[in-house]
Order: sequence, then C-alpha cells, then structure tokens
Amino acid sequence: MLNKKVSDLLNEQINKELYSAYLYLDMNNYFDKRGLNGFANWYMIQAQEERDHAMLIYKYLQNNDCPIKLTAIAMPDKKFKKDMDVLKAGLEHEEYVTASIHTIYDAAYKVKDFRTMQFLDWFVKEQGEEETNARDMITKMELFGTDQRSLYMLNQELAARTYSAPSLVLD
Ligand code: MG
Repeated sequence: MLNKKVSDLLNEQINKELYSAYLYLDMNNYFDKRGLNGFANWYMIQAQEERDHAMLIYKYLQNNDCPIKLTAIAMPDKKFKKDMDVLKAGLEHEEYVTASIHTIYDAAYKVKDFRTMQFLDWFVKEQGEEETNARDMITKMELFGTDQRSLYMLNQELAARTYSAPSLVLD
C-alpha cells in the first residue's frame, strides 16, 4: 500500500486527467463547428491521450492495492470566442496539470516512495512535451492564423496527426 496522501493525490489525478479529456473534447467540438477538421483531429487525439493518462494511474493504483475513488468529472466551462482562445486555454491547462504532477512527485519524495517517483517520471517528461506542443500550436497560429491560405495548410498538417498508445504500459 502506498502512503495515504500519495494515493489520495493519485486518485485526484485520475479525475484531472479525465477532465483534461473532457476539455479537449470540447476543443475538438469547437474546431469541428469551425470546419477546421485538422485542428479538430489534433484535439481528439489529445483527448485520447488524456484518457490513457487516467488509465495508467488507475492501473498503477490497482497494482498497488490502493483504494480507487471515481468522482464526478466537472463540465468544461471555458468560452472560446476565437481560435487563439482555445490554444491559450490548452497551454494554461497543461501548465496546471504539470504543477499537479509535481505536487504528487513532491509528496512521494517526502515519504521516500521511490516506486511512485519512478512511475511519475514518465508523466514529468510527458508534461514537458505537452507544454512544448501547446506552445508550438500558439506560435504556428500567430505566424499563419491570420492568412486564410496558411491556415488551410496548417489545418492539413494537423489532420495528419495520428494516435499512438503511450510508451508507458502497465500490465
Ligand atoms: Mg494528461
């Protein structure tokens, strides 16, 4: 069994990851309505990844014989008036999730829970990548978003993104 504080935080993180999936679905829906299917695809894959994150933590708790508490997932409540609102909300959210992962890591570190620290290493790295991706999206939109032809090309580029299962797999 893990330390209670650590397992409580991991339980909360399951909810946060599922909320992330919800948020990205909402973003997918925004772009679907805009007719930008490439952007919609990009956010759909984000949503799939977030569900994976939740499942990894879920499985980790099960493997360690910890109680699992599934709580209600909040409604995505962000209002998007323009494309850039979505991109900036995405980055802001990833920064929030990074801080949350770091909080769990810190709790594990304090009780010398080396197993959880090692488990979370993957998430620490993943959050670095998520933030980079979110920032790249903003940069691309700043460069190309105002020109219709460039936006079309960017949309095509994002349409090519494919889903792949996370490199971290728990049996
Ligand atoms: Mg995540």
